[in-house]
Amino acid sequence: MPRNLVAENWRLERARYAMVGNRCTDCGAYYFPGKAICIKCSSRELSDYVFNGEGTIVEWTKIHEPATGFEMFTPIYYGIIELQEGVRTSVQFTSITDESKLKPGMKTKMVFRKLFSDGDQGIVTYGFKAAPVFE
Ligand SMILES: [Zn+2]
Repeated sequence: MPRNLVAENWRLERARYAMVGNRCTDCGAYYFPGKAICIKCSSRELSDYVFNGEGTIVEWTKIHEPATGFEMFTPIYYGIIELQEGVRTSVQFTSITDESKLKPGMKTKMVFRKLFSDGDQGIVTYGFKAAPVFE
């Protein structure tokens, strides 16, 4: 029986490209990344929640001497964003076209980018970064 590659790719793509966290079904708290137990009410009843990735900058910094494997991104812009649901997460920024405009409260959108590569193995790891919205 032939595999349904369309359905399979769609399913994998959702896992790769969607920001899946979770939400407590008892008190409504959001988590990204997801947790097994709700920190606010100790419930174990959490269901998957897909964040749309829109948020704002809480704070940011610039790193000139990154760890091994991250040299290609120097300087690295790194910081904390707050997603629309109120969840704060630390994240690397990307697509910085005007550093002077970076400030708390600036809108961001999560985008899928290369995170780092293992020089010896050539293994590239992808994940989410926050792209500030320059207006
Ligand atoms: Zn809860």
